[in-house]
Amino acid sequence: MNFRWKLFFSYTLLALLMAGALYLQTNRLLEERLVDESRQHLLDEAGLARLAYEQLAGHRQPQLIAEQLGGVTRSRVTLIASNGQVLGDSDVRSDQVPNMENHLQRPEVQQALTSGSGSSLRYSETLQVTMLYVALPSSSADKVMLRLALPLDYLDAAKRSLHVMLGSTVVVVLLLALAFSALLSNLISRPLRTMAEVAARFGAGERGVRMPSHGHDEIGYLARVLNQMATRLEEQMDSLASERQRLDAILGGMGEGVMVLDPQGVITLVNPALRAQLGLAGDLVGKALIEINRHPDLLQAYDQHRATGTEVTGEVTLPNSKTILSTHWMPLGQHQGTVVVLHDISELKRVEAIRRDFVANASHELRTPVAVIKGYAETLLDGGLQDPDRSRQFVSIIASHTERLTNLINDILTLSKLESKETALELLPLDIGALLRKAGLLLAEHARQHGIDLTIDCPADLPRALADYTRLEQVLLNLLDNAIKYTPSGGSVTISAVQHDQRIAIAVSDTGLGIPAKDLSRIFERFYRVDEARCREQGGTGLGLSIVKHIVQLHGGEIQVASEPGKGSTFTVFLTTA
Ligand code: ADP
Repeated sequence: MNFRWKLFFSYTLLALLMAGALYLQTNRLLEERLVDESRQHLLDEAGLARLAYEQLAGHRQPQLIAEQLGGVTRSRVTLIASNGQVLGDSDVRSDQVPNMENHLQRPEVQQALTSGSGSSLRYSETLQVTMLYVALPSSSADKVMLRLALPLDYLDAAKRSLHVMLGSTVVVVLLLALAFSALLSNLISRPLRTMAEVAARFGAGERGVRMPSHGHDEIGYLARVLNQMATRLEEQMDSLASERQRLDAILGGMGEGVMVLDPQGVITLVNPALRAQLGLAGDLVGKALIEINRHPDLLQAYDQHRATGTEVTGEVTLPNSKTILSTHWMPLGQHQGTVVVLHDISELKRVEAIRRDFVANASHELRTPVAVIKGYAETLLDGGLQDPDRSRQFVSIIASHTERLTNLINDILTLSKLESKETALELLPLDIGALLRKAGLLLAEHARQHGIDLTIDCPADLPRALADYTRLEQVLLNLLDNAIKYTPSGGSVTISAVQHDQRIAIAVSDTGLGIPAKDLSRIFERFYRVDEARCREQGGTGLGLSIVKHIVQLHGGEIQVASEPGKGSTFTVFLTTA
């Protein structure tokens, strides 16, 4: 039953109760009033009858007097002697009067004896009707008591019409009350209904809805309080949403994978980096950790964290991608679960390995010339100096290895500088033709000694390239030096430059030994040589092409190599035009 009906029924019940009470009370009052009036009237008549009796007493028979007075007053008149014996009764035949019951104990008679007048209302078994009795003692010598009785049946008729009148009034009032209660209940419950509707819309997530709050009564106050609450809730929801967006943005932008697990090991949050690291797709929230990845190292670290409740770090190598992830398991608050951060350390590990290899290779490379120099120096000291021819030979060997050592150290230093990015390039528009000619000039003598024909081919209208002069010169010298080194006498080396889209391609090609296909991808690695013995013999350090590649990359350029064993190689450097 809704509030409106409850209100309506309450009003109706109240109206019914009030109408009923009014009806009963009015009925009772009016009835009492009628009886009182009749009693007073009868007493007045009794007074008159007493006067008449006192005049007639002793002159006529009491029965006669009673009958005459009964006729005048149109009520039953009974004359009662002071001992209670009935002397005459207007409604009883004269021969029956002596048989009548003693009336001394009648309530009205007793009352009249004590207080001078008496009345009583009771049901007469003889006449089968409610009778009103009044009694007055006469002041005559015989102390005869006059009693008048009136049947109240006429009162019943009066009462009936009274009931009808009262009843119809009550019904009309009740109907009016019903109409009013319907109207009032509707009026009172309407703002509540509106509030309930607005609250439901608000509950459904609709924003900006507010309750009408015009009144200054409790409902108006309630509406205002609810509106304030709604505003505060909206503000809190906004701040929660922006907080959530911030968190999403942070988690989304993080390179580290982040996952939150509840105390049962069920996933409650995952960021995109983690999906990418573990190669996961679909909805992961609600799944257990074991469902998404079964890597033993991962599960073992999680188990250890769960068992100890402390921070645990671990490492996982993913079998397919060979990615190495560091895992960091941290407790999330008091028994609220776990947050794990996965960090891809594959690159770190790779760089570490390269560095380790480099140190090992560098020490190995340095050891050989140092051992040679040491060996020959000791031989010289141990008497070798006495033989001038051998001494000269030994010293020249020492000198060549010293040269090699110097080259090696210089190359290592250059490479280290290039890697540490200490050297900022000075990029300027360069005339590539001039640079090629200069490089050709520097190595012309070297080429001639090796019996190599060196050609430079560069169009006059070649646009300038954006490059660092010294570094680019170093690139060209290294490439040219290699081309001359690995081309047998009688061969040729060509340096050329052409424009290629928005780039300038500088190519160094030779007709030399060439490089086997299997080695092509590795020749830019540090200390990598195709033919160890031959290269050492040529005085190579194995770092030249590494330096070249680094410099080209620093320029934002590209280096390509094409080679066919026995026919020659072409190294092409691409640079952007100025
Ligand atoms: P190196 O100092 O030994 O020449 P680089 O790094 O310059 O070292 O070259 C790496 C290796 O690549 C060389 O040892 C050689 O085997 C090969 N290589 C480089 N340039 C040429 C070329 N023009 N022709 C044939 N092989 C080459």
